[in-house]
Amino acid sequence: MAAQLIDGQAIANQIQQEIKEQVAARVAAGKTVPGLATVLVGGDPASAMYVSMKQKRCAKVGITSFHVELPADISQEALEKKVADLNADPKVHGILVQLPLPKGLDEERVLQAIDINKDVDGFHPLNIGRLAQKGREPVFLPATPAGCIELLIRSGVKMEGANAVVLGRSNIVGMPVALLLVERNATVTICHSRTKDLPGLIRQADILIAAVGRAEMVKGDWLKEGVVIIDVGTNKIETDDEKGYKWVGDVDFEAASKVAAMITPVPGGVGPMTIAMLLQNTLKAAALADG
Ligand code: NDP
Repeated sequence: MAAQLIDGQAIANQIQQEIKEQVAARVAAGKTVPGLATVLVGGDPASAMYVSMKQKRCAKVGITSFHVELPADISQEALEKKVADLNADPKVHGILVQLPLPKGLDEERVLQAIDINKDVDGFHPLNIGRLAQKGREPVFLPATPAGCIELLIRSGVKMEGANAVVLGRSNIVGMPVALLLVERNATVTICHSRTKDLPGLIRQADILIAAVGRAEMVKGDWLKEGVVIIDVGTNKIETDDEKGYKWVGDVDFEAASKVAAMITPVPGGVGPMTIAMLLQNTLKAAALADG
């Protein structure tokens, strides 16, 4: 059986088109243009690249982006003051502080300083706390986990009653995606570095979300026939060709494709969805600010 490809790029393009139309409709109705502030602290090239990608995508859908670049040695107080200024700026509907922050800065305090109605990254402790509580609604969902769920929804995958295995328990992917699956009535097993018999647990999965950051760790014979795989992993490995490297996921794609019912490619799976969900959150933030 050859697995059906879950084309994250195509789905993200479709979502971005929907957002573009909604932004245009807002503006035509005389409402404010949605605005996203990106805050980059220090000069980490990967973080700078992610921020620049987010700004470009904002421009494509008609969202204004405001960029704030701050030195790595900025004080905690000065950074929180910058966040407070953005909280008070009516043109800014969403605030994204690019993580990780340089050493010495307290990430949790910075995230807590963001107005919960502008927390488009969904990492404010209140948003995460609500996600973990039954019947409580977070204002925003974190982008990558929300992107994983959106891929399942738009691919017609039934989560209710499914055995879902989440490989990884990080704050930004594994844990929130597990909470979102529970919310959708899946039965969830969360695996991590101390889990015993990983292959045995993964073999029980109807849905596997892999977010471990280890190139092609999940082998074909760890999988149940007909499993749906969302591979969040983004790992750079060396190759012999001219380019010298390629990106692979946490799952051995070739072997998994022979067993799975559906699978996301890397790249072109979860990655494009992360920014699409961020744009969706920014649009929602603008609507919240309308009152
Ligand atoms: P982290 O390093 O924060 O977390 C990795 C998790 O995997 C941890 O919970 C860790 O367990 C677990 N783990 C590590 N090694 C093993 C092992 N051998 N067996 C079982 N579990 C293990 O990573 P992130 O969650 O931030 O990212 C995961 C992957 O997703 C990365 O490749 C990253 O690049 C990618 N990513 C992709 C995004 C996208 O938009 N496509 C966005 C964000 C991340 P423990 O808790 O015990 O240490």
